[in-house]
Amino acid sequence: MFENPFSADQTIMEEGTELVGRIAYWLFGLRELEVEVWGKKIKLDLEHFKRKPLPQFTSCCPAWVRYVELFYPKAIPLLSSCKSPQQMAGATAKTYGALKIWKHDPRKVYTVGIMPCTAKIFEASRPEFCHAWKWLREKGYIPKDTPKFPDIDAVLTTRDLAELFRRLGINPLEFHEVEEPKNFEWYSGGGTIFGTSGGVMEAAVRFAYSVLSGKEPPAESSAWDFRQVRGYTHPLVKATILIPLKPEFRKEFGEDTLELRVCVVNGLGTDGSHIKPVIDDAIAGRSRFHFIEVMACPGGCLNGGGQPVNPMGTSWIDPLLPLPLKVPP
Ligand code: SF4
Repeated sequence: MFENPFSADQTIMEEGTELVGRIAYWLFGLRELEVEVWGKKIKLDLEHFKRKPLPQFTSCCPAWVRYVELFYPKAIPLLSSCKSPQQMAGATAKTYGALKIWKHDPRKVYTVGIMPCTAKIFEASRPEFCHAWKWLREKGYIPKDTPKFPDIDAVLTTRDLAELFRRLGINPLEFHEVEEPKNFEWYSGGGTIFGTSGGVMEAAVRFAYSVLSGKEPPAESSAWDFRQVRGYTHPLVKATILIPLKPEFRKEFGEDTLELRVCVVNGLGTDGSHIKPVIDDAIAGRSRFHFIEVMACPGGCLNGGGQPVNPMGTSWIDPLLPLPLKVPP
C-alpha cells in the first residue's frame, strides 16, 4: 500500500521549495539560499532557477500539462518541474520502497495507481516516466541490459475499482483498519486536501509559510485564511498571503514580510476561457501572481473524469447537492 497523499506531500515539499527558490532568485536577486525543511538545512543553488521564471504554475494535473504542451509551449518553463503524486509514488516505490522497505527485487514490483482521473492513464504511459529504471541501472542495482520498465505499470480509475469491487462482491464499507499506518501510509493534512481545487495551493503556501517564517501558520488569522483560495464555485480565485519573514530571510530579502500573490484556476473553462487571460499575462511577463494552481477539472480531482458518475447527474462539488447521497437501485 502506498497512500497517494504521502506522495502528494512529497510533491508539495518539492514544489514549495521550488517556489521559495524562484521567489528568492527573481524577486530578490539572490544566487543561493539556505532553507530549513523539517529540521534539515538545505542549501539551494538558485542559478538552477535562471530558466524557471515566475509565476510558477502547478504541474500535478497531467491534462493541464498536456494542454500547455499543445497550446502554450512558451509557458513550459513556468510549469513546476515536480512530478505529480502518482509519478512520485511510482518512482519512490520502485527505488526506496523496493530496496529499503519491502526488500524486494525492484523489477518484480508492479505498481497500480488508483486515481480519480482518466488523464493519469496517459500520464503513466509517457515514455520519460521510467526514472526508477534509469536510477537503478545507473547505481548498479539492476543489470545495465534490463529492459525499460515504467514507474507506474497500470492505472485504475476509481470508477474501474468500484466496478471491480462490484463484480467480485467486495463491499468497502465492510473494510476495517487492521494496523497503524506505517511507511508510505501516513500523510499530512496538506496531502489530504490535494484533490480539491485550491488544495495544492493551500498545501504549497502552508509549506512556504513555515519555511520562510520559521513557524507553523496560526490556525486562524487575517493573513492565513486559506478558504480564500478554495475554488469550488469560482473559475478564478485570487488571494494575497502575508508571510512574516524570519530574521535571516529579513536580512537576505531586505523586507519584513513577503506578500505572496496567488491564483487558483478552477477548471480550464470551455475553450480554455478560464486559463487564457491568466496564461497570456504570464507568457507576456505581466502577471501579478507568484504562484498559480491549475486543475483541468472544475473543483479539482474529486470531480475528476474517472470518478463514479454521480447518480444525481450533477457535479460532485455542487454545493446545493444534498448529502449523504441516496444511491438509486
Ligand atoms: S484535475 Fe482532473 S484531469 Fe487534472 S489530475 Fe485531477 S482528475 Fe485528473
